[in-house]
Amino acid sequence: MMRPLLCALLGLAGIAHASAPRTELPASTTPGGLVIGRTEPGAMVRFEGRALRVAEDGSFLFGLGRDVAGRVALDVRYRDGATQTLSIPVQPREFAIERVDGLPESTVNPDPKLAQRIAREQAQVAKARERNDARQDYRFGFVWPNTGRISGVYGSQRILNGTPKNPHYGVDIAVGTGTPIHAPAGGIVSFVAKDLYLTGGTVVIDHGHGLSSVFVHMSRIDVKPEQRVEQGAVIGAVGATGRATGPHLHWGMNWFDTRLDPQLVVGPMPR
Ligand SMILES: [Zn+2]
Repeated sequence: MMRPLLCALLGLAGIAHASAPRTELPASTTPGGLVIGRTEPGAMVRFEGRALRVAEDGSFLFGLGRDVAGRVALDVRYRDGATQTLSIPVQPREFAIERVDGLPESTVNPDPKLAQRIAREQAQVAKARERNDARQDYRFGFVWPNTGRISGVYGSQRILNGTPKNPHYGVDIAVGTGTPIHAPAGGIVSFVAKDLYLTGGTVVIDHGHGLSSVFVHMSRIDVKPEQRVEQGAVIGAVGATGRATGPHLHWGMNWFDTRLDPQLVVGPMPR
């Protein structure tokens, strides 16, 4: 009586083995998350209509914005013509919302001339984030650019006089002016500006495949555009330039124009 059952189990195991995944993804992700996957060399992978860069070894990445929910899906076409749609669940997370009322209107909504300058400067940074290099600097992991009290987290949102402002897209580390900032991963410096209205001294490092880090409010910048930096290299120093209420490092991360949470990528801060 037992024999047929055993055979059936072996049969199932055989099927499971034969269908070992051709594309590997993490079991789940979360808003602001970076997803690194691996497929067969030569496969084409699309996420939300965008063709992802697939490295020679099959690795690829994409990122999720703050307000993604449900599941995210990838369409894969292999070299043999087979196609697959794969999806992973997005584990929800909560973001803080802070309401501040009774502020002078001029501080909440900048005058049109200032708004124009801000838009122009943000477009320059956005352009740097369009870069799509084959380099895979992201594959060697990330380290904290410096350590200290975390004074701001990704995703929190302020509602000023009833107007929702942009959520906070990055992690703030409260350290003093002059504290060195280290590259969290290697890359190419894709943008440098000494004095932007909102972000002051600003540096973008491109880690490859559309993934980049931005550092703002810097008091000193030690790198030049197109310079190669290695993980841990000093790129400048913390400050309070631009619209900052005090010295701190703001570290943001992007997959092209999608804002990611650096804390999810770097892991806990060493004590
Ligand atoms: Zn910040």
